[in-house]
Amino acid sequence: MTVYNGPVFEMAAKQFEVIADYLSIPEDERGRLLMPKRAVAVSCPIHRDDGTTAVFEGYRVQHHLTLGPTKGGTRFAASVDLGEVAALAIWMSWKCALVGLPYGGAKGGISVDPSSLSRRELEALSRRYMQEMIPFVGPHTDVMAPDMGTNEQIMAWFMDTYSMYQGQTVAEIVTGKPVSAGGTLGRREATGRGVAHLVSRAADELRMRLNGATAAVQGFGNVGSITALELHNKGVKVVAVSDHTGALHRPAGLDIPRLVEHAASRGSLEGYSKEHGLDAEDLLSLPCDVLVPAAVERVIDAKLASNLRCRILAEGANGPTTPEADQVLERRREEIFLIPDILCNSGGVVVSYFEWVQDLQRLFWEEEEVMRREYQVLDRAFDQVSARSKRDNVFNRTAAMAIGVERVRGAKETRGLFP
Ligand code: GLU
Repeated sequence: MTVYNGPVFEMAAKQFEVIADYLSIPEDERGRLLMPKRAVAVSCPIHRDDGTTAVFEGYRVQHHLTLGPTKGGTRFAASVDLGEVAALAIWMSWKCALVGLPYGGAKGGISVDPSSLSRRELEALSRRYMQEMIPFVGPHTDVMAPDMGTNEQIMAWFMDTYSMYQGQTVAEIVTGKPVSAGGTLGRREATGRGVAHLVSRAADELRMRLNGATAAVQGFGNVGSITALELHNKGVKVVAVSDHTGALHRPAGLDIPRLVEHAASRGSLEGYSKEHGLDAEDLLSLPCDVLVPAAVERVIDAKLASNLRCRILAEGANGPTTPEADQVLERRREEIFLIPDILCNSGGVVVSYFEWVQDLQRLFWEEEEVMRREYQVLDRAFDQVSARSKRDNVFNRTAAMAIGVERVRGAKETRGLFP
């Protein structure tokens, strides 16, 4: 029993066990690597527009502090709980280590459906959450960022709230801010650009032409929409997309630039077209060259893994595939090229790191510089994962996670156990 009990934490723990067995990590060393260093739960009261008071539960979990500050997004969703946040923090650790960032993983969130709040209420809740977190975060302790249900505006409110308490602007307390408030060029696009870049690396490995290939994308938030657009710009026919309001399917390819505009102005895919409706459940098993789950955790179970009909599985979301599904994917690794989440969506935190560095130095880069460096980091990680999977004859998830876990373990070993 731990305070993190729940299906998502259990999934992160199971994944870790698989890697720990593969790396032959002694039993007594495992808890130190897996269990989060700190978890904070706070109550965030706000005044509702109708004059009543409402209280929302907020969390922040900092997984390990061995390599530098912790880093990770903040999720606003009704489903958020401590176990989910802890699992997401653990995944951030393996992700940051895999791509070589000087961070441990963190994640935070509030259990709230943000669409149920007015803009004023959302601002009040965002500010109150950051204010409650002030004793536990800092530019050299824990640096927040966006995740599902949060955006640049919310990061600006976080930054402003923290800064007001410090009596000076502390831009480096959060990343994913608007460029007008100390954000970096290319952060908003970073995750989707990274996903599409890695898809083209996978296609090269498979000697598959992306021009004319087909793709299906689940989730049309920041990650899904930009991934779809980037793939579209590479000549890929995006035949299906979905979000929480429904799914669209057009075998000849959807008009992705128009869909992105629609989603930006309406907040979702709803109302775009009645013609191209698809059961959202069916999107993941559509035959396509590239499948991108870019929504929530645990959408691919063992049964679905056996029914996947894609050539490349690019995990834009965190944790979309269960450990049981992984066993199937491991067996199907000649048929399906997996780009595991901690590699696939790492472009976001890579550019967050660039934002933090620029904020600390007060020296800002051109967008081309940001993109060039992002792709350089992703290429290096992709090559390392490929080499490891070939060397040990394991599938890409095992290779990627093993590299991440090994680096954290190595740092802990070198630093030693205090006192
Ligand atoms: N929330 C994103 C993730 O899961 C980004 C984190 C960050 O930029 O710090 O990777």
